[in-house]
Amino acid sequence: MTDITIALSKGRIFEDTAPLLKAAGIVALDDPESSRKLILSTNRANVRLIIVRASDVPTYVQYGAADLGIAGKDVLQEHGGAGLYQPLDLNIARCRMMVAVPNGFDYDSAVRQGARLRIATKYVQTAREHFATKGVHVDLIKLYGSMELAPLVGLADAIVDLVSSGNTLKANNLVAVEEIMQISSRLIVNQAALKLKRDAIQPVLDAFSAAVKQ
Ligand code: ATP
Ligand code: MG
Repeated sequence: MTDITIALSKGRIFEDTAPLLKAAGIVALDDPESSRKLILSTNRANVRLIIVRASDVPTYVQYGAADLGIAGKDVLQEHGGAGLYQPLDLNIARCRMMVAVPNGFDYDSAVRQGARLRIATKYVQTAREHFATKGVHVDLIKLYGSMELAPLVGLADAIVDLVSSGNTLKANNLVAVEEIMQISSRLIVNQAALKLKRDAIQPVLDAFSAAVKQ
């Protein structure tokens, strides 16, 4: 049987992924959350999991180091998706990518007046595209986390970040003013692997697809 490798990240996505994997008949032999191993065997002799940073999943799949992966649309949009086939929206880890500003900052009138806005975000490419489409002039400031802090200490006027409950924004006196896109996690597949290893990959795709539709 052909070997296949699936790239996953710990944390938020894994919580929602484990039940889907199980429905596809794949169970990790070690618990990814507690194990320090980065390569995990599964109950299927020909299927292994690799544990990578969420934003690195598309890179492992693009270069064929993993045949399949699960990645957020936020990460895929930012990566660009070259060499990746995206057959299935898994409908997990759902949230929204939003523009947020400090309470009391009049975003709409700043935009109307053509003000140049400083935007702090992890999603520089996606934010650049969004504001270019709107015709808003921005200076983008790349951060790797805790974006909410930036407007509070004068690093930026606004942030672009993922929002689900809105509690983190609220706790930091920020308010979401614009939705950029709805986010969920997608199954991604290396395009060459899908052709060369279809016998092993297609049943996994079908099982995921059936599990999502339930
Ligand atoms: P790290 O925490 O290691 O810096 P990360 O922030 O990319 O990496 P997570 O916070 O686990 O890792 O996020 C992984 C993915 O989960 C994101 O790419 C996104 O698709 C999804 N996600 C992030 N935040 C939320 C949220 N608030 N609600 C639902 N899904 C989310
Ligand atoms: Mg995080």
